[in-house]
Amino acid sequence: MYIVITAATVLLMSVALVVAIWKHTSIEILEDAEGNPLRWEKEALPLGLLLHPTLSEWTHPAIRAVAFWNNGADIDLFNFLGERGLVVLDTSAPGLVEITPRDSDDKSSTILRYGSGGRVQATPIYLDPDTPPDLRSRVIAHELGHALGLAHHYSSASAMYQTALAGDFSIMLEETRVLRKWYE
Ligand SMILES: [Zn+2]
Repeated sequence: MYIVITAATVLLMSVALVVAIWKHTSIEILEDAEGNPLRWEKEALPLGLLLHPTLSEWTHPAIRAVAFWNNGADIDLFNFLGERGLVVLDTSAPGLVEITPRDSDDKSSTILRYGSGGRVQATPIYLDPDTPPDLRSRVIAHELGHALGLAHHYSSASAMYQTALAGDFSIMLEETRVLRKWYE
């Protein structure tokens, strides 16, 4: 009897541990009201970026952010045809992410407009023009992550960490997994 109880206790503890680890390593994704993950149709990829002309100082951070997601997930998530003047432009892409300056004192943000089944149809991104130069790559990478359907990540190393920190940032393994599941 003692052995049976011990085995049952160990089993219960193992289940609790697995649940705890799973919760800690799982990532949050953006969902619609029905709980469908918010993501673009695969056919909309690679997404084009349209950077508002007044955000010329964001051109190179945008290029770095595009490379960050494309290389990190090893998928062509965003298309970048090149700079025309100071505007990052690929309006030929079926999915277009329009990036404009925010017009209030709010922080940088992303709005996902979606249709049925959690499929995203448009994504305006509003950037804070006062963002310090050393944070711009991280901020725009973060907002592009939201545009792909990722929510915040608990790790301060992640581009999807809630607060923009100076220094290096990474794509997390779970983020790579979910992006491949959705878009590969
Ligand atoms: Zn965010």
